[in-house]
Amino acid sequence: MDLNFTGDDLAFQQEVRDFLDENLTPDIKDATALTTTVFVEKDVALKWQAKLHARGWLAWFWPEEYGGPGWNSTQRYIFQTECALAGAPGIIPMGVRYVGPVIFTFGTQEQKDFFLPKILNGEHYWCQGYSEPGAGSDLASLKCKAERDGDEYVVNGTKIWTTHAQHADWIFCLVRTDNTGKKQQGISFLLIDMNTPGIKVDPIITMGLDHEVNQVFFDDVRVPVSNLVGEENQGWEYAKFLLEFERGGAASGGLKAGLKKLKRIASAQTDGETPLINEPAFASEIAQCEIGVMGLENTELRIMSQLSAGQPPGPESSVLNTVATAISQRMSELCVEALDYYSTPFKHVRPLYGTNEYFPGPDYAPPVMGTYLNRRAQSIFGGSNEIQRDIVAKMVLRL
Ligand SMILES: Cc1cc2nc3c(=O)[nH]c(=O)nc-3n(C[C@H](O)[C@H](O)[C@H](O)COP(=O)(O)OP(=O)(O)OC[C@H]3O[C@@H](n4cnc5c(N)ncnc54)[C@H](O)[C@@H]3O)c2cc1C
Repeated sequence: MDLNFTGDDLAFQQEVRDFLDENLTPDIKDATALTTTVFVEKDVALKWQAKLHARGWLAWFWPEEYGGPGWNSTQRYIFQTECALAGAPGIIPMGVRYVGPVIFTFGTQEQKDFFLPKILNGEHYWCQGYSEPGAGSDLASLKCKAERDGDEYVVNGTKIWTTHAQHADWIFCLVRTDNTGKKQQGISFLLIDMNTPGIKVDPIITMGLDHEVNQVFFDDVRVPVSNLVGEENQGWEYAKFLLEFERGGAASGGLKAGLKKLKRIASAQTDGETPLINEPAFASEIAQCEIGVMGLENTELRIMSQLSAGQPPGPESSVLNTVATAISQRMSELCVEALDYYSTPFKHVRPLYGTNEYFPGPDYAPPVMGTYLNRRAQSIFGGSNEIQRDIVAKMVLRL
């Protein structure tokens, strides 16, 4: 197994670095650094995504025929890692990463022609309507129903924890179209225009005081049957396909960037005399995180090597998500500990980069507490830690 990059890989890495030097402007970078939530605000994201799209790099895992750059798995890994290390905002995934692949894999030609270009150019901003009150981990229990009435479905019910629904033009929804048989069998995948009468979006303000998630209500919402993806009652298959995109991806670049931030804070903060980075107990905590990040990076490279050799990713990929989440949460805790009382004047204003309010303490202080609180959700969204461990136990360890 060869974990080193080839000459071509290194040339590509330089190309990505040159692009980032030129295009990752200070305003985008600063806004990202001051973001407490998983995703940056819509305006920042769209500005960055427009630059990637202009270069043909936004949909980096799409097939070339739909606008992808035709990269191999190593190039995808290099691109994600370099973007994270440079402090670029993540791509908002609901359009490009989630519904896009479902549409180009299972959608009609009309759906592909209409939706894919608008996902790429930012005209359509998407949100994901999977979870409901009572249907999160047990997603197949969902009740939001769509009843056929001529050429339309009539949708009634609710979706919850819907990230960025307040910004979205469209929502992709799992809806119940049949109540007979196994609960997985009566689910369909529907694309719904958020401007349709009968849709209401209520904000949910998280304990980090961010407005990131919402509850969406559907009251006799009429949706053309042409917005059904694939076959009626087969939506569970498309839903599972999408989750592979939601749970995949390289994490070590983002974690390395987080580690750099933690070290910067620990170098500047002291226990009264000694910088925390040299204080044995704190230094040991940082070292634990660093060892975890190095281990994770090595595992990611092993997976890359297997993929490059035409082999499947193997069971290692199933554990990456839980490990990455644990390290990320621990680093956000250590940042709070290092900041001490400067983490407590916790500001309600959001986004932090959009305010000229005074923040006491050093320049790295403002996002620390908000980020710590927001990261608690990381072991819940996209499949909770317990559910991910269940998958590892069943699929990998065969328990
Ligand atoms: C910040 C955030 C953003 C989100 N964004 C979206 C979004 O955009 N769209 C969307 O559709 N959803 C979204 N979600 C919802 C997310 O997918 C669900 O929260 C998640 O699947 C867990 O479901 P639940 O909240 O209903 O918790 P539950 O399923 O009720 O779980 C509660 C607890 O019980 C545990 N548990 C449940 N079942 C088992 C089991 N079988 N074995 C062991 N333990 C179990 C869980 O691990 C958890 O600790 C988001 C959630 C968060 C927190």
